[in-house]
This record gives sequence, C-alpha cells and structure tokens, in this order.
Amino acid sequence: MNNCIFCKIIDGDIPAEKIYEDDHVLAFLDIHPVNPGHTLIIPKNKNSQNIFDIELPDWEHMSRATHMLAGAITKALNADGINLRMNNREHAGQVVYHPHIHLIPRFKGDGLIDWKGNSYKEGEAQEVLSKIKNELKYV
Ligand code: AMP
Repeated sequence: MNNCIFCKIIDGDIPAEKIYEDDHVLAFLDIHPVNPGHTLIIPKNKNSQNIFDIELPDWEHMSRATHMLAGAITKALNADGINLRMNNREHAGQVVYHPHIHLIPRFKGDGLIDWKGNSYKEGEAQEVLSKIKNELKYV
C-alpha cells in the first residue's frame, strides 16, 4: 500500500487547498504554512521521491509551474519576496518522500531565520570545486 500523503492528494483521497493543476503538476497550500500562502508544487507522477530520482520532464514541469506561481503568489499577497526551497533526504529536512518545491512568500520583518554564511578554509573551496566538477554529467 502506498502511504505517500501527496499521492493521496493527487488521487483526491484526502483534501487539499489546490491553487493550480495541469496534466503534470499540482500546487496546493502547505497545511502548516511558514507564512500565509506557503505553497507546495508536486509532480503528478508517483515514481520518484526527490531531486535524485525525479525524471527530467517532471522536473521541467515543476520548474515551469514554480516560475508562474512565484510571481502570482508574491503579487496576490503583496509579499516583499519569496523563497524557493526543496528538502531532499532526511538530513536535508525531507519528511514527505514525493518531490516537492516549497514556495514561501516573505514579508519585511517576518522574522524568519535565513541561512548564515560561513567561510572556506585555505584551499577548501578549490577542493570542493574539484570534487563537484568530477561528478558533473551534463558538461
Ligand atoms: P518536507 O519537510 O520538505 O518533506 O515538507 C513536507 C511539507 O508537507 C511540510 O511543510 C508539511 O506541512 C506539508 N504537508 C504534510 N501533509 C500535508 C497535507 N496533507 N496537506 C498540505 N501540506 C502537507
């Protein structure tokens, strides 16, 4: 049995506040919003869990919907900006194992904590760069 909560939303087995739907993606309000208008975009295909196994066409459909909805949400709510976020795997904060992009409208003074930047040690940036470049498959 499939326990994926977002699959149940796709199938209409549990309710959701749907914002947008087409043949490939569904967007709905997060049930525990970081800010009002916090939206999730998911692929309708149920064959992947996160960024690591989603097929490129599904990712492209999500990207297109994200582009459209980011502007609409920001304008509709008179937000001052918007964060796009995707949690992939447990230690990156993923709880629901169906790919989803969070769109989180931001408001001046909303008090949400942002990432704090660190510094590289001597030579560390070059080492990291080299490791990543060795894994690139699309260059
Ligand atoms: P993540 O930690 O990236 O896996 O985020 C999962 C998100 O799904 C959380 O922000 C939850 O609030 C949200 N969520 C879980 N169940 C539902 C639901 N039934 N309807 C809408 N959002 C949900």
